[in-house]
Amino acid sequence: MKEIRHNWTKEEIVDIYRMPLMELLYRAATVHREYHDPNKVQVSTLLSIKTGGCPEDCGYCPQAARYHTDIEGNDLMSVSQVKAQALRAKASGSSRVCMGAAWRNVKDGPEFDQVLEMVRTINKLDMEVCCTLGMLTENQAKRLAEAGLYAYNHNLDTSEDYYKDVISTRAYKDRLDTIDNVRKSNVTVCSGGIIGMGEKLEDRAGMLVALSTLDPQPESVPINALVAVEGTPMEDMEPVPIWDMIRMVATTRIVMPRTQVRLSAGRTGMSREGQAMCFFAGANSIFAGDKLLTTPNPDVNEDMEMFRLLGLEPQAAFEKMPQPKTVEQADSKFESKGEKPKWTRPGHQIERNEIARQQAKS
Ligand code: SF4
Repeated sequence: MKEIRHNWTKEEIVDIYRMPLMELLYRAATVHREYHDPNKVQVSTLLSIKTGGCPEDCGYCPQAARYHTDIEGNDLMSVSQVKAQALRAKASGSSRVCMGAAWRNVKDGPEFDQVLEMVRTINKLDMEVCCTLGMLTENQAKRLAEAGLYAYNHNLDTSEDYYKDVISTRAYKDRLDTIDNVRKSNVTVCSGGIIGMGEKLEDRAGMLVALSTLDPQPESVPINALVAVEGTPMEDMEPVPIWDMIRMVATTRIVMPRTQVRLSAGRTGMSREGQAMCFFAGANSIFAGDKLLTTPNPDVNEDMEMFRLLGLEPQAAFEKMPQPKTVEQADSKFESKGEKPKWTRPGHQIERNEIARQQAKS
């Protein structure tokens, strides 16, 4: 078994992606079993707490004010509305709520204070709470951490080379800076991307290089298939073949073994068999609910039926804990909950070694 690598190259990742499919699946599934329970998949709910009217120009996004789409804009939701939706999500099996606001960046003031209150409220429901609010300063990341935020999502979307073909209103470095600001707080990092935007295989690999060479690697990586929305510059893009999603998930799993790989947008276009292959290849999270921010998503009952057919169980909240900073913290987090330390599986021993390595480095 190998230590976690932070020096993947684009060429190596392209070679993995292109492996004969059966070999790729076998390797990815082997890594997946070393670090995760292959029969558990986290169910998360994405709530659009402020919809539309965004000043940015992300070419895939129906919420950009400059594109003419059917999206109905909404002001920031109230804390009680968010709480009601979170309770509904929990009752239908979600253990994580991700709140998205169509902002370029977070601005200090009453709206941010309201979001902090939403974070505190969901935290009390014993659910993982995640936000995606645009660019963030170090101080804002710390305030979110104090409110109990578990994860912050800020996708790299694609490779640095292809980024300028997708978005012109901000730079790749702005994305990396926000991720760095999140990393300076105790909040875990969620960052991934979208395939099917006209990028080359090298761009998919380039994005995985950018994510996997972060040290530590993101705790969560969403892999989205573009949902081409009428009125956006990408409205005519061809649907992503399921084989590309399977290969992308498997490659992500191999280069980021500990990460929660999230099978995100585009599931409505995938068969159950296709999704099952993605789970086998290492995806261990889905988003539930009939909408993913603004685009369609399978109904929660359909997902539960799929779980039943595949013998999958929804993963409980906090089952994957944030990366502890020391080996002692890692051990005590289980002991303090009255649980046996879980360093019995080989993957956990590797995780412990990784923490020791980080500790020695700092
Ligand atoms: S993806 Fe986010 S930042 Fe980009 S246009 Fe949509 S809401 Fe705005």
